[in-house]
Amino acid sequence: MFRNFKLVSKMIFGRGCFSQLDGILAEKRLNSDSFMVFVVDDVFQDKSLKERIPVRGKDLILWVNVDDEPKTMYVDKLTGNVKEYMDRLPDGIIGIGGGSTLDLAKAISLMLTNPGSSADYQGWDLIKNPAVYHVGIPTLSGTGAEVSRTTVLTGPEKKLGLNSDYTVYDQIVLDPELTEGVPADQRFYTGMDCYIHCVESLNGTFLNAFSSAYGEKANDLCLEVFLEGGPESADKLMMASYFGGMSIAYSQVGVCHALSYGLSFVLGIHHGVGNAAVFDYLEEFYPHGVNEFRQMLEKQDLELPRNIVSGIENDKLEKMVDVALILEPLWENALGPEWKKKMTRERIKDLYLQM
Ligand code: NAD
Ligand code: ZN
Repeated sequence: MFRNFKLVSKMIFGRGCFSQLDGILAEKRLNSDSFMVFVVDDVFQDKSLKERIPVRGKDLILWVNVDDEPKTMYVDKLTGNVKEYMDRLPDGIIGIGGGSTLDLAKAISLMLTNPGSSADYQGWDLIKNPAVYHVGIPTLSGTGAEVSRTTVLTGPEKKLGLNSDYTVYDQIVLDPELTEGVPADQRFYTGMDCYIHCVESLNGTFLNAFSSAYGEKANDLCLEVFLEGGPESADKLMMASYFGGMSIAYSQVGVCHALSYGLSFVLGIHHGVGNAAVFDYLEEFYPHGVNEFRQMLEKQDLELPRNIVSGIENDKLEKMVDVALILEPLWENALGPEWKKKMTRERIKDLYLQM
């Protein structure tokens, strides 16, 4: 059975295209009484981008903090803030920030039209009602959150996305200028998220010509950016993120992401950092990818976090394994339909304990 999947309907790309946001939103504003909600990473509270946000009339800016990756409780609180602000739905939700902020904005746009807590919808296709119109504007490249049909949330029991066709952005604004000012280590870790998306997609059993076309190009762009650099790097990395996201949209990620979700749930380690920390130990699964990753790491002159799991309490280790094992499609993509015979709890523990 082939998946009939939803794509982002509209996109604009290019240096400075953020200036066209006002015009894009004007078409969606219903009347003088309606409003838009800008969900913006609070790192921009004292940056010049703040002055460029096209706030009109009754619009609301919701500054969000992403020191911790998005939690279902935080999504529920922010959704409540929007509902309290006015007793009607906004015309649009506009997310401006890295993957965490893009996911928060997606989740708020879904939870405004779906009852209950966002934790109730962690899984695949549980969302029943279409979201409020939503726009994604990345300021950090790599996660592919701008194109994906998920918003990754940590809930009381698990780290798992709200995966649905309604999650996908209606519009994205890809302006590479917005990524200027990202610290070098963060740029690398989020860039490696993209690189690892490609490796896991290209080496997975779900691979097809669609996913390899996007994945191969994104893979090459990452290598150009992190091995050669150059003035177009921000543009290339933004397109790599988009293509990497398209690649996994029709395949899946693999071993690294499954293990990284466990790390993140139990230890609060951020996605990009966790992926990089895990990937360095996955030579047996992805020998070529790990070799290239090490070359890029060396070029960036960064130290990976080490000894993050060894010595951990047993109950935490067990929980990490539980979280990793929930992600069945990832294991199946990596190891095939018989994956349960190949990847036991003991083997996952052994992998974790090396880290
Ligand atoms: P992030 O959004 O967590 O941001 C990392 C740091 O960079 C933050 O401190 C942020 O304030 C800062 N930052 C962002 N843009 C900046 C800029 N232009 N200048 C200076 N600082 C800036 O990082 P991320 O790696 O982009 O996102 C990780 C999140 O994305 C995780 O929560 C992960 O689960 C999620 N994710 C989602 C998908 C998806 O498909 N939905 C895919 C992969 C990862
Ligand atoms: Zn990822």
